[in-house]
Amino acid sequence: MIPYGRQSISEEDIAAVEAVLRSEWITQGPAIGAFERGLAAYCGLQGGGGVAVANATAALHIAMLALGVAPGDVVWTSPNTFIASANCALYCGAEVDFVDTDPDTYNLCARKLAEKLEQASAAGRLPKVVIPVHFAGQSCDMRAIAALAQQYGFRVVEDASHAVGAEYDGGKVGDCRFSDIAIFSFHPVKILTTAEGGMLMARDPALYRRLQLLRSHGMTREAGELEKHDEGGWYYEQIDLGYNYRITDLQAALGLSQLGRLDLFLERRRALAARYDTLLAELPVIRPRQAAYGVSAFHLYPIQVDPARRRAVFDSLRSQGIGVNVHYIPVYTQPYYRKLGFRAGLCPNAEQYYAGAISLPMFYGMTEAEQDEVVAAVRKALA
Ligand SMILES: *Cc1c(COP(=O)(O)O)cnc(C)c1O
Repeated sequence: MIPYGRQSISEEDIAAVEAVLRSEWITQGPAIGAFERGLAAYCGLQGGGGVAVANATAALHIAMLALGVAPGDVVWTSPNTFIASANCALYCGAEVDFVDTDPDTYNLCARKLAEKLEQASAAGRLPKVVIPVHFAGQSCDMRAIAALAQQYGFRVVEDASHAVGAEYDGGKVGDCRFSDIAIFSFHPVKILTTAEGGMLMARDPALYRRLQLLRSHGMTREAGELEKHDEGGWYYEQIDLGYNYRITDLQAALGLSQLGRLDLFLERRRALAARYDTLLAELPVIRPRQAAYGVSAFHLYPIQVDPARRRAVFDSLRSQGIGVNVHYIPVYTQPYYRKLGFRAGLCPNAEQYYAGAISLPMFYGMTEAEQDEVVAAVRKALA
């Protein structure tokens, strides 16, 4: 089976993890800070910093908390995403709602967002936070979303789980030029892996510090944050209600080692995407369109086929040994969300895209021979 995604682990990665195992610290050691500083510098983040955590779901949770999301608030996100992008609002007792996607990029649509904001403003029910998701590795139109955030006074958290290394408007996703926080996932199917892991990027120093506290029980030993001084070397204070969402030094060492190959990973994914574009050009499929404002990281290569034939094409590909997948079932159609009152029809563009969607294999180690096999299987499945 050719999987839809697969991690790439080098001998250097293994040596980096082994070195941590042989060192004094296996949890909160020097690799975590080095990984955070390395990725923040890679993204071009000015000020603030990166906060590495146990996974991107934990990152989304503390992003909501750091921005003050609480019962009575509303958070909006894209329906075309993994459920975690929406669940983070529910963790905080807030409500969640969905903004329909753009039919070309499958990303949260800035024009639909503007329309929905106008209605919400009239109803006195504006969102506190909007979470654009950079689907498949392609950035949302962040300049337009940031302008709306200014106008309507909401905060922006980019779910960039798919988009480490992606470019937008001359900068890298994660530089937070158009958002308060950006989040990456390092799950093995994503672009860069730490096994489980995630990172938040925040430019504002106070927000950055709040995220650090929320990651680890709200505990501090920083002199400037303590109420009592001269209590002794053991002393700490809890000044916020935080969690244990820490990453380990083992994972951070893996991430740091992988970061050294990130440009190689991206180059390969982009080359494979360009090759798919050429090889699929004559077939009756819709290839993923690319907006002119940026460069995708190509976490996924999603195509659309005739919705009436999607199931048959998917089954045929699986039976031919091609590990295709589908991204994403619109979040609000999940049984849990239907119980909250959501109904099919809420986001027609996302539903239409989902009905024909198939994600083809896309990963760093994929060979051209494997890609040819995938394309031949697609051709056969469509015939
Ligand atoms: C993978 C993913 C997440 C969750 O990431 P974890 O690190 O597995 O918690 C959140 N949002 C999106 C869009 C994802 O693809």
